[in-house]
Amino acid sequence: MFCQSCGASLKAEFSDLPIVCPHCTHRNVDLSRMVPVDGLEPVYPLEGESCPRCESEFWAGVLDGAPIKFCKVCQGILISHGDFGTLIRTRRADFHGREMKPKPFQPEELKERCICPDCHQVMECYPYYGPGNAIIDSCENCDWVWLDGSELNCLIASPGLRPVS
Ligand SMILES: [Zn+2]
Ligand SMILES: [Zn+2]
Ligand SMILES: [Zn+2]
Repeated sequence: MFCQSCGASLKAEFSDLPIVCPHCTHRNVDLSRMVPVDGLEPVYPLEGESCPRCESEFWAGVLDGAPIKFCKVCQGILISHGDFGTLIRTRRADFHGREMKPKPFQPEELKERCICPDCHQVMECYPYYGPGNAIIDSCENCDWVWLDGSELNCLIASPGLRPVS
């Protein structure tokens, strides 16, 4: 397959997505298989703000009572650090679906840069040390955590310790 952004040939199949392009660090995702985040309620479109990942229209929304911002196209979510912790704890405790093995960690993902839509600084990027092998982008200035669409579902469905609700 070819990178959706720079066209470079990637040694990967569509079934391996998401794949971070080693040339331009674009994250290639299969939007047709994007699973929307359960229980996410859109509130209103954010004038003049765009998704830090795919530059589509950005929305204010509510997830489990927490105010968030999100992108309807790539399903990325901006949530505060505190709400993120609560969300993962409660969602993991309440999860009764089939567990999914997370994809192996891709070091290229750490090279991706995500710009905070509020303060326009480059967000810090680090591996999440819980179940799920996710890469988390966070802005210390604005207390935001950015999660890519498939990441939240993966953090919830990955095998591992589950808190008791
Ligand atoms: Zn590329
Ligand atoms: Zn997006
Ligand atoms: Zn910020």
